[in-house]
Amino acid sequence: MHPYSIVIHGGAGTILKEDMTPELEKAYIQGLQDAVNAGFAVLEEGGSATNAVKAAIVILEDNLLFNAGRGSVFTKKGVQEMDAAIMDGKDLSAGAVAGVRNVRNPIELAAEVMHSSNHVFLSGKGANDFAIKQGIKLEPDEYFFSQFRYDQWKAIRDSDNYSLDHTHQNLEELMRDKKFGTVGAVACDQDGNIAAATSTGGMTNKKYGRIGDSPLIGCGTYANNKTAAISCTGHGEPFIRAVAAHDVSALMEYKGMSLQEAMNEVVNHKLLKMDGEGGMIGVDAKGNTAMIFNSAGMYRGMRNSHGENVIGIYHD
Ligand code: ASP
Repeated sequence: MHPYSIVIHGGAGTILKEDMTPELEKAYIQGLQDAVNAGFAVLEEGGSATNAVKAAIVILEDNLLFNAGRGSVFTKKGVQEMDAAIMDGKDLSAGAVAGVRNVRNPIELAAEVMHSSNHVFLSGKGANDFAIKQGIKLEPDEYFFSQFRYDQWKAIRDSDNYSLDHTHQNLEELMRDKKFGTVGAVACDQDGNIAAATSTGGMTNKKYGRIGDSPLIGCGTYANNKTAAISCTGHGEPFIRAVAAHDVSALMEYKGMSLQEAMNEVVNHKLLKMDGEGGMIGVDAKGNTAMIFNSAGMYRGMRNSHGENVIGIYHD
């Protein structure tokens, strides 16, 4: 049997142990473990890598602790606009959505774009119309409301600031309570196929229809059986300019680097030089995994068929 594995993240940024209560830490660890287990169960039953990453992401989107689906941040206009992408490394098929509203699980809509449209990337109202046509589950605005997110937004809505949910940016007091993060998953299945998925509410107080790296194929999300499946988290703009996820793949394909070496090069050298705070998770077609970040912390977890199970938040 081919070794199989799943890796997830729940966002990266200024996540400090001193800002965390034991209860909150426990809730995060549980949320991450639940998502890892959901994805792993799919792989264990012989399911595909794309179904495994989707299953893990749905659990994280439904969890208020993370900035995706239900726990998405508020935009400048005080609403939630969500982005998501999924890619299958077997045939390079991909689906993505940006700026969608009221969709309970944006990753399911992205998968629907991949499987049932002739397109890769849908945005805004058109993407919402497609969701309705395909029978994707919608929820009212109240479903996406959380007091914490609202307070976080209220504190900066009259400024031109926008913020990564885990980063202080002069908002120490506000962010002491920070709880959420973009979510991602990568997996290698029993057939040696790999897939990547990412889902996010983006950045608090974002405006002008701002879209980050998460739904952009090659930037925040990429999968290719020849190299790796990657999902990124962090300050989206530098990740876009670095074409970060695809750069890992290119370093592996053209320079013969290992997954770990290529991810380290992109996260700790290229992105760092561009003030690109954040991190990424990766898996290759042999089932090897890596989780690398240049920020204070990254919510993360992995499990594989060798019996390893790791959940982490800070630097070890
Ligand atoms: N990368 C995401 C964005 O820029 C944010 C995050 O990872 O938390 O939209």
